[in-house]
Amino acid sequence: MSRRATKIVATLGPASNDPQILEQMIRAGVNVVRLNFSHGTAQDHTNRAQMVREAARRAGREVGIMADLQGPKIRVGKFADGKIFLEPGQKFVMDAARVELGDIDGVGLDYKTLPQEVKVGDVLLLNDGLIVITVDAVRGSAIHTTVKLGGELSNNKGINKQGGGLSAPALTAKDMDDIRTAMAFKADYVAVSFPKSATDMEMARQLCNVAAADGHRPGLIAKIERAEAIPLLEEILLASDGIMVARGDLAVEVGNAVVPALQKRMIKLAREHDRVVITATQMMESMITNPVPTRAEVSDVANAVLDGTDAVMLSAETAAGKYPLETVIEMAKICHAAESGDAFELESDFTGKTFTTVPYAVSMGALFTAHHLGAKAIVALTESGSSARWMSRHLIRVPIYAMTSNIATQRRMTLYRNVRPLLIDTSMDRDTALAQAERDLKALNIVSVGDVYVITCGEPMGASGGANMLKICLVE
Ligand code: PGA
Ligand code: MN
Repeated sequence: MSRRATKIVATLGPASNDPQILEQMIRAGVNVVRLNFSHGTAQDHTNRAQMVREAARRAGREVGIMADLQGPKIRVGKFADGKIFLEPGQKFVMDAARVELGDIDGVGLDYKTLPQEVKVGDVLLLNDGLIVITVDAVRGSAIHTTVKLGGELSNNKGINKQGGGLSAPALTAKDMDDIRTAMAFKADYVAVSFPKSATDMEMARQLCNVAAADGHRPGLIAKIERAEAIPLLEEILLASDGIMVARGDLAVEVGNAVVPALQKRMIKLAREHDRVVITATQMMESMITNPVPTRAEVSDVANAVLDGTDAVMLSAETAAGKYPLETVIEMAKICHAAESGDAFELESDFTGKTFTTVPYAVSMGALFTAHHLGAKAIVALTESGSSARWMSRHLIRVPIYAMTSNIATQRRMTLYRNVRPLLIDTSMDRDTALAQAERDLKALNIVSVGDVYVITCGEPMGASGGANMLKICLVE
């Protein structure tokens, strides 16, 4: 059986917060573990990060850690009874100055500036869009509304404004603390919630750099979940190492129906700009309570794979669901089957492209050569991971093995589609390193006698970002 190319990101939570379950999930195919900073203390996350590293070691797999920042909380306050039930047509007042607990007529606001940011006629969506209310009037700190779509509203549920436009900054004081926590345990990726511009991403990167005294540099993921982010997609993408199609909040802001087309556009754009992309939210939602996915979920995951996403993500399914392990097993199967049926058109990807640097040209040369020769593997000896990332932006059936001596690079590459990152000692001269690489490939049963594989490396060995050699090898 061929190797799965698409990566799986799984969120840790009460359902999976156990060394044995986590180890099983990693063995079943989790490549990156997401720590959701919306829940838990700094110490919880530090402990979980350590648990992930240990489970990965026991399972003998490379696993990345993604710290997902909470971002701005635009939420209603609490209710006297914990929750209320809103009926369509009823009036409801959200008041930033309200101190007493909420009831059927109204509730306080966590986000104090909301009354200044809405106007008559605006549509507000509560609880992930399940409840829809419209603004009738704003009087001082009070927003008077009429309920259009009713339902249960409980403590601290989120508020979105249809069409976007709320001013909350992407990085809160809590996020800044959380960045320090994440850098202390060397998170491989930091995901920024609700970025509105490239500046938000640049700021997050600077905060990471300042917090990482040891020079650790995480990959920055922009969660695309605000309406405002859509027209600025390209600049946000260019300021990031990758994006997440954060379909939960995004769908609430732009409307459900628009999201699938946006997803395809985002995946395409990310790949064209040499960035990674994660498709997220509700992919296997029904498996929170059922042991098998729905046909529609299977199709959704498969389509993201066919679009070329680097990774598909699990949220509540693995964090709080009844079947965390089964969900990973099912998802891995779907990815694998979708990849097998895919039609790969490597050359059409390159129409009109020129390769202007030596490392890039070498990497693309390796890709073409391996494709045409039907090579068993592409091997990239890489310090920065760049050559592996460039190659992984193109759909090809030949699996890519990225060998690096840099453990941070190895972990970063866990997210790259079709790349298996391996550790190797590259401190030796070229011929010794190439011989070692082949021994490793044989030991892992990746190649055997008679196989052809293609390998790239840069001289001098151990330097960053400079592939300048391509060798085609026949295993003897
Ligand atoms: P969240 O982000 O799960 O942190 O809200 C993903 C999304 O909104 O889809
Ligand atoms: Mn979100």
